[in-house]
Amino acid sequence: MHDVVIVGGGPAGFTAALYTARAKLDTLLIEKAFYGGQMATTNEMENYPGFEEPISGSELASRMANQARRFGAEIIQDEVKGLMLNETVKTIETAKGAHHAKTVILCMGASPKELGLPQEQKLRGSGVSYCATCDGAFFKGRQVAVVGGGDTACEDALYLSRFCSKVTVIHRRDALRAVKTLQEAVFSNPKIEIVWDTAVEDILGDMGVEGLKLKNLKTGVQSEIAVNGVFVAIGIEPRTSLVKDMVKLNANGYIVTDERMQTSIPGVYAAGDIREKPLRQVITAASDGAVAAYMAEKHISENNL
Ligand code: NAP
Repeated sequence: MHDVVIVGGGPAGFTAALYTARAKLDTLLIEKAFYGGQMATTNEMENYPGFEEPISGSELASRMANQARRFGAEIIQDEVKGLMLNETVKTIETAKGAHHAKTVILCMGASPKELGLPQEQKLRGSGVSYCATCDGAFFKGRQVAVVGGGDTACEDALYLSRFCSKVTVIHRRDALRAVKTLQEAVFSNPKIEIVWDTAVEDILGDMGVEGLKLKNLKTGVQSEIAVNGVFVAIGIEPRTSLVKDMVKLNANGYIVTDERMQTSIPGVYAAGDIREKPLRQVITAASDGAVAAYMAEKHISENNL
C-alpha cells in the first residue's frame, strides 16, 4: 500500500510528489498522457519565479518530474478509471490494475472549453485546435483565427504570429481580459488583427477548415472570413468526472477545498486548477501541491495509518 497516490502530472501533482517523497512517504504519481498538463501547452513561461529567461512549459514539467523522482517518487503512465475514496484505505483503479493508498491528492487539472458548434468535433484535428503550441507549426504561412480574449488567446495569437501569415483574434466583447503586457504585445503586432464584439456562428469546410461564419453581437451583421485553422481559447473546465459524485464541487464544477487543500472526504486532497481558487497559475498549482502534501503527511501521522 502507498502512503500517497497523486492523480495527475501537472505542476500541482509533481510538487505534491516532490514534497511527499522528500518527507519519506511512499509516493506514486499516475499521469495518463504527457507531463505538465496545461503547462506543457505553453511555449514560453515568463512568470514562474527563478527563470529570468522564459522556459517552455514542457521543459519545466520534465524538470519537476525528475526532481520528484530524485527523492524517490514513483511516476507511472496509466489511466485512472475509478476511485473509491470513502474508506480509510483508498482504491485507485487504473487501466492496468489497482493501487491502494492511505491518502489521495487529486491533481487532474482542467481542459480547454469547446465552442459547442456543430462542425467543431468533425473538424477537430483538421484545422480546429485547442493548443497553439502543439499544432501551430502545421499552419506555417497560412491564415488562422484565435477565439477568445483572455491570457491564453493572446499568448496563442502571439505564438502563431511567428509563423502564420495573419492571425485574426475574434472576441465577443470590446475589451480583452488578458493581462496588460499581453494586450500591448498583441496590439503592437502587425500580423494580428482583432475582430471585436463578434461570435463565431459556424466553422466552414468539409475535409478541413476553410473559414468561419461570424456575427457582430452589437449590430447583428453576419460575415465570413477565410482561415485555414481556428484555435479555440475560451477558457477551461475542471476534469472532475472521476469524482463528481464523491467530493463537494462548486456551481462551476470545481472541487471545493479549505486552505489546507482538504476536500469533503478525509484523507483526500485537491490541488491546482481542479479546485475552486481565485488565481490559476503554475505557481499557485505548485503551492497547492506543497500544502496538500504537507496535509497528507499530517493525516497519516495523526491517524497512525
Ligand atoms: P479565461 O481567462 O477564462 O478567458 C476566456 C476568454 O474566452 C474570455 O475572454 C471570454 O470572454 C472568452 N469566452 C469564454 N467563453 C466563450 C464563448 N463561449 N464564446 C466566445 N468567447 C468565450 O481563460 P484562459 O485565457 O484560458 O485562462 C484561464 C486561466 O489560466 C486564467 O486564470 C488565466 O489567467 C490563466 N493563464 C495564465 C497565463 C499566464 O499567466 N501567462 C497564460 C494562460 C492562462 P469574456 O472576456 O467576455 O468573458
